[in-house]
Amino acid sequence: MSKTKLDTKQLQGKTVIITGASSGIGEAAARLFAAEGANVVLGARRHSKLEQLVSELCDQGLQAVFLAGDVGNEDYAQALVAHAINVYGGLDASFNNAGTMGETGPIPEMSSENWHTTLNVNLTSAFYAAKHQIPAMKSGGGGSIIFTSSFVGYTAAFPGMGAYAASKAGLVGLTQVLATEHGADGIRANALLPGGTKTPMAGDLENNPEQLAFYNSIHALKRMAEPIEIAQAALFLASDQSSFVTGTALLVDGGNSINKV
Ligand code: NAD
Repeated sequence: MSKTKLDTKQLQGKTVIITGASSGIGEAAARLFAAEGANVVLGARRHSKLEQLVSELCDQGLQAVFLAGDVGNEDYAQALVAHAINVYGGLDASFNNAGTMGETGPIPEMSSENWHTTLNVNLTSAFYAAKHQIPAMKSGGGGSIIFTSSFVGYTAAFPGMGAYAASKAGLVGLTQVLATEHGADGIRANALLPGGTKTPMAGDLENNPEQLAFYNSIHALKRMAEPIEIAQAALFLASDQSSFVTGTALLVDGGNSINKV
């Protein structure tokens, strides 16, 4: 008789840091990963939003804690890892997903301040995250580190998004190097590249049907993603389902990269 598999949850007992968990893709991932058995350690800037989400998850009998802060601050990256270790005893995976569009506009008109802020929140944050997460994963025998990049800066360019595109492209390069540096430690590193996704970052689409129609049109699927569809890809990368996937830039973009009509 074959053995009955008692637990089919994909992240059972794994401790996972998720940043940008107060809304959009990160919030969807927090709900999904916790439901899949993970101990989730949630980060973002808004204390009250995180507190509310954690209390909701705990009320469902799931495992979740939070620590609010700015991912562009190295002390915060370190504190998130320490929180994971203190509460749950280690770190198995991370979904470094917080990001900002920054101000948009042509490069000659862009302030240096906007350039530095956007690069700091989207790219330097990934360096801080990796620097502090990798030793914790290594001491636990391996792990999976994920960064949310974008199709913007990889397969598509939009005028006015120079700082954002540069920061998101930089994540792909960092991911590749991390994969080679730490593959022998059992640590996988991957970038996740969403297409247009219905989150606050995409703007108030309900009140802007022309913008929504444009976003829909650039995808082969002729629609934008729901946040859960991106979270499901993050779940794949965080779990053992992707045990031989590392150093990749995984497009989850509804075919916008190949769509020319
Ligand atoms: P969102 O605005 O709903 O979420 C962004 C999250 O990041 C929020 O939780 C916010 O509080 C957090 N955040 C922003 N700056 C931060 C900082 N300095 N410190 C800590 N937390 C910070 O948008 P989203 O679409 O869910 O964005 C998630 C990721 O997906 C981002 O990295 C974004 O660039 C990327 N992305 C989004 C789209 C899209 O169409 N929505 C497409 C491709 C990539």
